[in-house]
Amino acid sequence: MPHPPAAPGPATPAPDAPVADCLHCGRPTEYPVDRPGLVLCPVCEWQEAQRTACSG
Ligand SMILES: [Zn+2]
Repeated sequence: MPHPPAAPGPATPAPDAPVADCLHCGRPTEYPVDRPGLVLCPVCEWQEAQRTACSG
């Protein structure tokens, strides 16, 4: 039985695909450049989530 081809992850861009830079620190994110809205790297996303959780 042949091995099935590896299915690409839903949120994983191609290795050589251009990715958007984080709006906070300028580091490359996991998102493609055409992703709409606020684009943050995993670190800034986490920090933003903490900030949101603490607000109010
Ligand atoms: Zn960042």
